[in-house]
Amino acid sequence: MRKIVSGLLAGAIVSSAAAVSAAPPAALVINGQKGKTEVSSQIIKGRAFVPVRELAEELGAVVKWDAAQQTVYVSTSKQNEGVSAEKSKKASSPEAMKLVINGQEVKSAVPPQIINGKAWVPVRDLAEGLGSGVQWNDSQKSVWITNKIVNPSAKDYKGQAMITFSYDDGLDTFYDFALPLHEKYGIPATDNVIAGKVKDGAQTMYLDADQMKDMYARGVEIGSHSYSHEEGLTNLSDEDLDFELRESKAVLEQIVPKVQTIGIPFSMYDERVKAAVKKYYQAARNFEHLQNDIPLADKLWLHTAIAVTNETTFDQIKQRIDEAVENKQWCIIMLHGIDPDNRDLYEIKPALLEKVLAYVASLGRDKILPVNTIDGVSLAVK
Ligand SMILES: [Zn+2]
Repeated sequence: MRKIVSGLLAGAIVSSAAAVSAAPPAALVINGQKGKTEVSSQIIKGRAFVPVRELAEELGAVVKWDAAQQTVYVSTSKQNEGVSAEKSKKASSPEAMKLVINGQEVKSAVPPQIINGKAWVPVRDLAEGLGSGVQWNDSQKSVWITNKIVNPSAKDYKGQAMITFSYDDGLDTFYDFALPLHEKYGIPATDNVIAGKVKDGAQTMYLDADQMKDMYARGVEIGSHSYSHEEGLTNLSDEDLDFELRESKAVLEQIVPKVQTIGIPFSMYDERVKAAVKKYYQAARNFEHLQNDIPLADKLWLHTAIAVTNETTFDQIKQRIDEAVENKQWCIIMLHGIDPDNRDLYEIKPALLEKVLAYVASLGRDKILPVNTIDGVSLAVK
C-alpha cells in the first residue's frame, strides 16, 4: 500500500514541473486540518519542497540551524541538539547543506537548499524522517501528512517520569478534536468507553464502532468505563457488578482486539469492587488527585493526578507534570470532552489540550515518557 501511494505522490510531483516552479504543487493537509496551515511548497527538480521550519513546527518538531556546519537539525525533543536556533543570513552552496532528523543524516536525491534566506527540504524526507505518514490524495490533489502516535517500547523507559492522557466516557469529541492533536505531538492516549453507549445509528455524543476501530489502528488504547455508567460500582449487587465489568469488556472486544484497563465510574470502589475488577482487567484508573510512584505500589489501582475541567488552568496541569518530572512519578491526567464550543464543566477547549501536549513534547521523552495506561502499567512495574 505504501509503495503504491508513494508512486502516486512521486508521479503527481514529477508531472507538476521540472525545475523551480512558482505554483505550489499541491495543498498540504497536516494532521487532517485543511487550510489551517500556512506552509508553502514548491517543486525543485521534480520534488515537492517545503520550508523546513514551517512544516517541522506544524508537526510538533524543533528546528535548529548550524551555520558553521551548514546543517539543519530537526528533532522531536528539545534536548537532542545543542546548536544555535538562529537562521543563517548568508546564502550557502546547496550541495553542502545537510538535513539531520533526530540525529540521523537524511540523504536526499535532491539536497536541501536555501532560497530567500529559508532552508527548504523535500517534504517526504522531512515528514517520513519525523515518523509521519505521507499520502497523496488524488481526489483533492493534496499531500496529506499525518503524524503518528508513538507508543513506547521497554527500551524507551530509563527510570524517567511518565504521563498518561486518560479520557473518560468515550465521547465523539475525542475523535474530532483530541485525536488530531495527539497525532500532531505523537503522544499516546487511552479512551475509556461506556460499552452500552457506543453510538449505533442514533445521534448521540458518543463514539461509534468505526471511530473506535480507527482510533485503535492509529495507536489509541480503548479501555472500559463499565457497561452502563449509571450507578457507582460499590452500589451494585455481586451479579450486577460482575455484569458491568464482564459485559463491557466483551462488547468492546467485538470492536477492538484488546481491552485490558478500566476507568472506574465516579471513582467509587471498595475491596469487593477491587476483587471483581481483577478478574477482567490488568489495571483500573481512579480519581484521587495523587501521582503514581514508580515502581507501582499496586499495579491494579492507578491514581489520577488531576481531573481537567473547564475551570482547570494550564498552570495547574503544568504544576502536576513538573512535580512528576521532578520525582520521576507517573502522572495520569483525566479528561472528558474536547470541544471548541466548551459547553459544560467537563469539556475543555482544544487550545488548552494543545498547550499541554506541546509542553509535554517540549520536555522530551527522556524527561517524561508519554504512555497509554496499559503500557504504563507494564513499564512501571519494572
Ligand atoms: Zn465517567
